[in-house]
Amino acid sequence: MTPSEEIKQHSGKPRILVVGGVAGGASCAARARRLSEDADIMIFERGPYVSFANCGLPYYVGDVITDERSLLVATPELFKRRFNIEVRLQSEVRAIDRAKQEIEVKNAATGETYRERYDALVLAPGSAPIRPPLPGIDLPGVFTLRTIPDSRQMKQWITERKVETAVVVGGGFIGLETTENLVRRGISVTIIEMLAQVMPPIDPEIAAIIHDHLEANGVSLQLGDGVDRFEQNPDGHTVSVITKSGASFSCEMVLLAMGIRPESKLAKEAGLEIGQLGGIRVNDHMRTSDEHIWAVGDAVEVRDFVTGDWGLIPLAGPANRQGRIAADVIMGRDARFRGVQGTAVCRAFDITVAATGTSEKNLQRRRIGGQPAQYEKIYLHPGHHANYYPGARPITIKLIFSVKDGRILGAQAVGEEGVEKRIDVIAMAIQRGFTVFDLEEAELCYAPQFGTAKDPVNVAGMIAANVMRGDAPVAHWKDTMGSKALILDVREPGEFKMGHVEGAINIPLNSLRVRMHELPRDREILVYCAVGQRSYYASRALRLHGFNARNISGGFRSYGAERQITGI
Ligand code: FAD
Repeated sequence: MTPSEEIKQHSGKPRILVVGGVAGGASCAARARRLSEDADIMIFERGPYVSFANCGLPYYVGDVITDERSLLVATPELFKRRFNIEVRLQSEVRAIDRAKQEIEVKNAATGETYRERYDALVLAPGSAPIRPPLPGIDLPGVFTLRTIPDSRQMKQWITERKVETAVVVGGGFIGLETTENLVRRGISVTIIEMLAQVMPPIDPEIAAIIHDHLEANGVSLQLGDGVDRFEQNPDGHTVSVITKSGASFSCEMVLLAMGIRPESKLAKEAGLEIGQLGGIRVNDHMRTSDEHIWAVGDAVEVRDFVTGDWGLIPLAGPANRQGRIAADVIMGRDARFRGVQGTAVCRAFDITVAATGTSEKNLQRRRIGGQPAQYEKIYLHPGHHANYYPGARPITIKLIFSVKDGRILGAQAVGEEGVEKRIDVIAMAIQRGFTVFDLEEAELCYAPQFGTAKDPVNVAGMIAANVMRGDAPVAHWKDTMGSKALILDVREPGEFKMGHVEGAINIPLNSLRVRMHELPRDREILVYCAVGQRSYYASRALRLHGFNARNISGGFRSYGAERQITGI
């Protein structure tokens, strides 16, 4: 019997109650209505709004979005008229009585507590910002950003206090987006981040590019340092943020963007299975350990599509899709969630950073199918469109793939333009289990103002496929550390003079064939150029002439970032 048949047999008119009325909850309710005109569908939302654009909040703080009403994607009236769904605002679901299939709701406006019966219950309570019990964390001027009222209070504080300095604790995407918006409002910002890098999901050498960009935009970075406490200063106007290392930053405002924790208390108290990371456990039907209860969004633990590990991926896309899947399953369809890849994008000032799949540091930490991951990575820095067409901007792309079969494991990219388009293509490839050979063959849009006839995605595939076929093995800057290999720079002498790797010899690509006799045959040769293209041509020629040559992936442009990380 399908869940919907069970529901119908039980009551005749299925009663679907949804807890939480934003990304996952609202999409679940609306989808359920599209599948059934009979069902009685109700959303209970603790806050004062349903279906609001939490992703837009940093831009509201920064006055990019000026009208608060633009953040309201839908209203209770719209839900009623368009979908015949009843939305109850300021209605917190306090308990679940699984035996009776009832929830207990408290109406914050009236103080009244009442019960509602369900056939299917969907939990979409989201996640809450982490607020560790640090001394002074409750001081006025210390904010978190999750709701419209949060953003309104921040805006009011900025205006009334004429805020000139702020500290953002946490360099994840909410921290970075809000930093950009505070700077836009003329505020000088320091980011304090416990890790040695911002944007934790990406690898450090890609994050290093963002560090440079943030600093170029006047943002101060205090990396590898956690907050110890907050203290009110005697002027009564500013607070000091004191870090574990003893550094102190005085400011008029603090944003805590230290990550999130799933709101799984309700589920836990109801005895539903909770995962090790604190999220609600669900199967691929988004069903919890209770057959009448589903859970979606930030509150659930999800399987990483690449590694198979459980994870918490608080993103709007998965929450929406999961809501839809839960509704499908409740209505008797065999919909299944495929798992997450953490496909995400963030813009900070003029650069966009995007990622999909797993990172290298994650692969180094974890195992795939119980085995240490056997992977290779390549870097490239192509223009986002044809270089001859005005305005081409470079994108740095890192592609990580399995050396066993070329399956794509992850990709990260950073640049001013065209970043998310490349990552989106690779995201789909990962979801379908494609290989680097598929990226080589991908047929993508091209006109000079949009891309290149060999799109950066194709080029990434070609470089990686060349590695897989053994045609052009790559080396990495780390490999040069303590290596006996000869380092060959094939750029033009002028470029070499402007800066080169210590110990490298310079034979420009154009004279390589006539000067090959200068190179040793009994020593490995690691070849680099500016971005990896000329050195690819050079290493191919050298290999065809019997030299043991490898191309240093990403070239001199990757050297700076790698140097910051590994100290080469
Ligand atoms: P939410 O959308 O958070 O909704 C949960 C709702 O449940 C809340 O309104 C809460 O009040 C309500 N609730 C909780 N408990 C109860 C209860 N017991 N009873 C009744 N109601 C309850 N993701 C992206 O992919 N891209 C972005 O650019 C992006 N930017 C973001 C920017 C900010 C500032 C924030 C805060 C988040 C951002 N996200 C972004 C994350 C994204 O918003 C979340 O992943 C997504 O909203 C999760 O959906 P959800 O339905 O699980 O939870």
